[in-house]
Amino acid sequence: MSSERKKFSLRNADAGNGKLPPQMEAQLRQALNPEQVEAVLDFSGLQLILAGAGTGKTRTLVWRVAALVASGIPADQILLLTFTRKAAQEMLHRVGTILGQGKIQVQGGTFHSWAAMTLRRHGRSVGLGPSFTIADSSDTEDIVGMLRTRMGFGGKERRFLQKSSLARIFSRHANHGTPIEDILAEEYPRSLEEFADIQALYAAFTEWKHTHQIVDYDDLMLQSFALLKQDTATLDILRKVHRYILVDEFQDTNTIQAQIVKILAGDMGNLTVVGDECQGIYSFRGADPKSILRFPTENPLCKVHSLTRNYRSTQNILDTANALMGASAESFGKTLTSNISPTDSTSATQPVLAHCSTFEDQARFVAERIRQLHEEGISLNQMAVLFRSASHSAELEITLQRKGIPFRKFGGIRFVEAAHIKDLVAMLRLVGNSRDGISWQRVLLLLPGVGTSTAESILLAMDATERPLEALREPKFSARKFAANLRALADFLESTSPDQSPAILMEKALGVAKPWIEDHYHDDAHKRMSDLNTLIEISKGYGELDSFLSELSLDPPERTGTIDSSLDQDENLTLSTIHSAKGLEWRVVFILSLLEGHLPSYYSLRKQEQVEEERRLFYVALTRAERELYCCLPENAFLTSSKIQEIGIPSRFLDDIPTTIFDHWDIEG
Ligand code: ATP
Ligand code: MG
Repeated sequence: MSSERKKFSLRNADAGNGKLPPQMEAQLRQALNPEQVEAVLDFSGLQLILAGAGTGKTRTLVWRVAALVASGIPADQILLLTFTRKAAQEMLHRVGTILGQGKIQVQGGTFHSWAAMTLRRHGRSVGLGPSFTIADSSDTEDIVGMLRTRMGFGGKERRFLQKSSLARIFSRHANHGTPIEDILAEEYPRSLEEFADIQALYAAFTEWKHTHQIVDYDDLMLQSFALLKQDTATLDILRKVHRYILVDEFQDTNTIQAQIVKILAGDMGNLTVVGDECQGIYSFRGADPKSILRFPTENPLCKVHSLTRNYRSTQNILDTANALMGASAESFGKTLTSNISPTDSTSATQPVLAHCSTFEDQARFVAERIRQLHEEGISLNQMAVLFRSASHSAELEITLQRKGIPFRKFGGIRFVEAAHIKDLVAMLRLVGNSRDGISWQRVLLLLPGVGTSTAESILLAMDATERPLEALREPKFSARKFAANLRALADFLESTSPDQSPAILMEKALGVAKPWIEDHYHDDAHKRMSDLNTLIEISKGYGELDSFLSELSLDPPERTGTIDSSLDQDENLTLSTIHSAKGLEWRVVFILSLLEGHLPSYYSLRKQEQVEEERRLFYVALTRAERELYCCLPENAFLTSSKIQEIGIPSRFLDDIPTTIFDHWDIEG
């Protein structure tokens, strides 16, 4: 057979005519204002929509996707990147509704899920097979920790950096290219004398991940960027597949992600990025909120659209956000103007500053006010309580449970990060990638009778052979009391394959691991088994092992608050960290604990730019509220973990908001 292939062109199959059907255009002009319409209809080339909170950026993006499809662009040539899978699904659902279609073929997801999918398909040229394991941040720390011990840096007599600090240094080095020595000089000057060993550990870390086919979050981005740069054939394919690229919340993408979309789009590509520099809250992950402001100068062909009316909140609420940003050292100089009429009955409602005494009083106030509002007819689905850190809602969660108010909590430790969940997931990861050393370590340590040093000797035996399972049956282990468990593990792995459905694999894995889990977690084994059964239920939604495991590592299901109440279960109050509330909105919003050390958080206080990031976080929180906003100040709260002082002091950000903007409520116990 000749290896030369002939070209066969499909007429009209790949291009829209750039025109909207008249009915769709009329619909569009009804749903959006003229500046939003212009941003939708500017179909091709590089576009930046730069606008404040609540001005309809996401709505415009949704309509843009719908308009592209309606004008004849094949839906599967559109790639929509957002910050969570849920946000992408929600946007695509809205596109489907506009178009009157059910499931829509547009590809949507996060940068990481796009990278995982692309590398599984095309990663050979960067040395990755299709079944690599994705290590989440705690796995990454564990790998660093294991190598740190293995290389003899972990002895008690040495003050070698901890695995979490090392993982952070390595991540910063990988993402920004900052030399490790410079990072040490800046952040850990006392460890400079260990520089050579830290450098050697980094080399071992990189090598180990490669030989064990493990990819961490940074690698997903770095490797896919390398793939696009090195493998022009794949780049060509991907450019055809992703002819239109749209990115929401662009201010939170890091440099590599920004480069990825630019290289994918090419010089004349159809790339639309949307964002708001005032809402950049991920610089701790390498994003630079100001980079979006440089985008037009760096890309002279880019067309900039700005949206000026806020459709979400009353002017009274926006005044708090405007005052907060007005005092920013970064002087972004943006003022939000509400589109809600001043004669609307809700426009007169002032934001409340609730002066409570303790954290318990704050929790009682929030729960009580929510109950009142619910009785007045506001659904719990329209209310949210936001906080800086997941732990800040502890008192409130107890109070809500006592009062029978159902809630769902987003952000913080997730269900899949619990040890027993990770144990079972590790068994499935081994089915997919038998070289995944970190999952081996996890599973081995679960076996009764296996401690760190035994696990290490088994791991070393595995590394020394091509077939890891054979190491489990080596004679030197067969006389030990855990030998039967090693055999059970080997039998499980030999009798399963990555082609089997995740649910079947989960059930088989649990069948084998149940006694180990019950033994290992004997204090609360019952609760843990119930979590594992929940995980089996979740796995039933997936057809393929790879996609199940990718999603668990990249965008896992959130933890749901305990729901035990007489209220209608279709209604749930939202409890969320501010980070997880990005892009969302509720009629009523409560913000907890406006105290120094909480917002801004302790960890930010050392550096001015980090305090400014906390300011942007508060700004994101304020701009989630549509009609009612309650800022809570527990004035006499005792901060047990305080590094500044014992009784909390009001957040410095409250000083930036004129006190007359608030209606002040004294909450009496
Ligand atoms: P954020 O910066 O918080 O992500 P955003 O700019 O993406 O906000 P959207 O979430 O798209 O804003 O819109 C905010 C609210 O305003 C939504 O409820 C949206 O439906 C509504 N909205 C936006 N534009 C219009 C419009 N032209 N007419 C009516 N409602 C609108
Ligand atoms: Mg948005």
